[in-house]
Amino acid sequence: MQTITSIDKQYVAGTYGRFPVELVSGKGSIMTGADGKAYIDMGSGIGVTSFGIADDMWLAAVSAQAAKLQHTSNLYFTEPCALLAKALCEKTGMQKVFFSNSGAEANECAIKVARKYSAETKGADCFTVITLENSFHGRTLTTLSATGQEHYHELFQPLTPGFRHVKANDVQALERMVAEVNPAAIMLECVQGEGGVVPLTAEFVQAAAKLAKAQDIPLIIDEVQTGNGRTGKFYAYMHYGIEPDIVSTAKGLGGGLPIGATLLSEKVQNVLGPGDHGSTYGGNPVCCAGALTVVNRMDEAFLADVQAKSDYVFSQLTGAEGVEAVTGMGLMIGIKTVKSAKDVVAECMENGVLCLTAKDKVRLLPALNIPMEVLEKAVAVIKAACK
Ligand SMILES: *Cc1c(COP(=O)(O)O)cnc(C)c1O
Repeated sequence: MQTITSIDKQYVAGTYGRFPVELVSGKGSIMTGADGKAYIDMGSGIGVTSFGIADDMWLAAVSAQAAKLQHTSNLYFTEPCALLAKALCEKTGMQKVFFSNSGAEANECAIKVARKYSAETKGADCFTVITLENSFHGRTLTTLSATGQEHYHELFQPLTPGFRHVKANDVQALERMVAEVNPAAIMLECVQGEGGVVPLTAEFVQAAAKLAKAQDIPLIIDEVQTGNGRTGKFYAYMHYGIEPDIVSTAKGLGGGLPIGATLLSEKVQNVLGPGDHGSTYGGNPVCCAGALTVVNRMDEAFLADVQAKSDYVFSQLTGAEGVEAVTGMGLMIGIKTVKSAKDVVAECMENGVLCLTAKDKVRLLPALNIPMEVLEKAVAVIKAACK
């Protein structure tokens, strides 16, 4: 008899190193495997299920919208799309939103906006986008180009031209590169997620923002992983006191359905006109209805609770036996362990806790509403596995 695992291995393209677990259902932060084993979910589908599995409010909104109207294309107006754009703008002070279906697409849009803006204001040879070494911006050919990690590039040459990578947290290197390349944009993640959960320094982010402003270079903040409450503020850039020109986001926004969003500030709000960009599924009413229930719950009290849970995890794991360092912000946490991250994650899984890795770290991205007692249990298992 064929198992799900064997069918998958036979027919699904082998791009993923999957864990040996078949998941069938869940509720909140608990997932259940095909063998009936329960797991505490400390990964939330890579920071996607912001309110856990089958969250009541999200489920009600998504189900109701699916029963009413699941898709229209962008040739018509729909309420969830309009209301979600309004909510995102009201929470950020941005002026307009373009909706897509993933983080890579949100970044593609950000790059297109910046390039068009810069071509119009500074000329057609102003197209280079500066991003950071060790960054991650997606898997399409252009966002791979933006990604500052060589090992993702190797097999896919030639990539989209016009991208340069500069060392993170090195203000002088950034200044030199800006002078050298006349950039169309500076693009960065405030906390490098796939790069190992590494927050940028405030000095660097603020200097980049200042430089961008002074030279009228659009500043793109990639909030695909850090956004939507993940770091204890609505967007991570809000920890740094800066005002980006373009913000891309995805992962946690939809609460589990595919959605990407590119937020445009006053400066670039009208750069894209009719026909300049599009996405058939973009602004899908079911995805937007679910996302609205995510965004609408991110008030000050909720974000303070995310921060309190973060403080708990940091206090439990910092200095614990077998833990070399704890990095990150909010509920986006990296643990540098003495043992290999892979071994720690395998042991946690054995003991009913699903964790992720990022580079050489164990990575935690639990649901933002994970109950305290569930978080305590998971942290105890992780702590024991690090020893
Ligand atoms: C995951 C991620 C992306 C890519 O998102 P997809 O939805 O997989 O296309 C881009 N940027 C950052 C910072 C990410 O973490």
